[in-house]
Amino acid sequence: MFAERFDRVRAAMAEQRVDTLVLSVGPDLPWLTGYEAMPLERLTALVVPAEGAATLVIPRLEAPRVAPRDEFSLRAWDETDDPIAITAELVGSAATVGVGDRTWARFVLDLQGALPKASWRRASEVVGPLRAMKDAAEIAALRRAGTAVDRIAAELQAGMIELVGRTEAEVSAELGRRILAEGHHRVNFAIVAAGENAASPHHEPGSRVIQEGEGVLCDFGGTMLGDDGVGYCSDITRCVWLGEPPSEAADAYAALLEAQQAAVAAATVGTPCEEVDATARRIITEAGWGDRFIHRTGHGIGIEEHEDPYIVAGNGTPLAAGHAFSVEPGIYVEGRFGFRLEDIVVAADSGPDPLNTASHDLALI
Ligand code: ZN
Ligand code: ZN
Ligand code: ZN
Repeated sequence: MFAERFDRVRAAMAEQRVDTLVLSVGPDLPWLTGYEAMPLERLTALVVPAEGAATLVIPRLEAPRVAPRDEFSLRAWDETDDPIAITAELVGSAATVGVGDRTWARFVLDLQGALPKASWRRASEVVGPLRAMKDAAEIAALRRAGTAVDRIAAELQAGMIELVGRTEAEVSAELGRRILAEGHHRVNFAIVAAGENAASPHHEPGSRVIQEGEGVLCDFGGTMLGDDGVGYCSDITRCVWLGEPPSEAADAYAALLEAQQAAVAAATVGTPCEEVDATARRIITEAGWGDRFIHRTGHGIGIEEHEDPYIVAGNGTPLAAGHAFSVEPGIYVEGRFGFRLEDIVVAADSGPDPLNTASHDLALI
């Protein structure tokens, strides 16, 4: 699997005339090596020449965490070594160097100083489109993570998670505990927004006490380790109403549900990303809530919670088999209520493959 990824990267490098990649912290490194570097002031850098062997430059104290693989060798550096000089030597006379998006600026600047003749590109231009198309192992990992948060969503909808009388922050902490109990190794976020707070899409759960008669929006996810030891993300949003929703809210939810399902159905291979967004937006606009849908319809997901492809107007990229992304339209009415409905979907040759199947209805508790 990792060998195949290296092959694909080298083929893309040849096509784009990039001589060497330098990949530091960020998602490209675990995707290629199975190793997630800690974001530290000590340099970690995978140097991948278009031809020849790849080398992982790594602080000696971190080296025991790396599983040895055939695709690259380790060059451990000691506390008094100069990792920039070591990396620059490995890059050698490469004319065009692609550097990972998340590399700390101090390292990029020092490398540029040490390699004055090289021209610099974003490594994401090479690796990003490859990483966006998930292979079978990655789809399996995303599906496992999706199934895990589906179970939590079902518990929420069944009234098994106490809401009334608790603060948003308490419910958020409980969602976090359940995310871990369901097998994730990290909680990434657990938005709990009650009543009028749900009109703010990324509301920070706080001390507000949840009450009878109002809506609650929960958007949560974590990272779960796949078979290859690399973490893949989950991300789901479901809404509940404590009692009977007023007719305005029920109407808004009905439009949202129709829009979300239509957008999922539209996410077929070959459809431009922006068309999936337009599908959801058309239905919400026709229902009269267009100006309340204030964000893009979705984002790619994988090792990162948000990555390519973005489901947004202006992104004409056609969906390809293996693209994994959220479909999450929302309707937000300031001072009143807010709804969002989110599934992760994989574009497949057989049609859109939703990884979340928890009920899409507004659960009345
Ligand atoms: Zn979001
Ligand atoms: Zn979400
Ligand atoms: Zn999302």
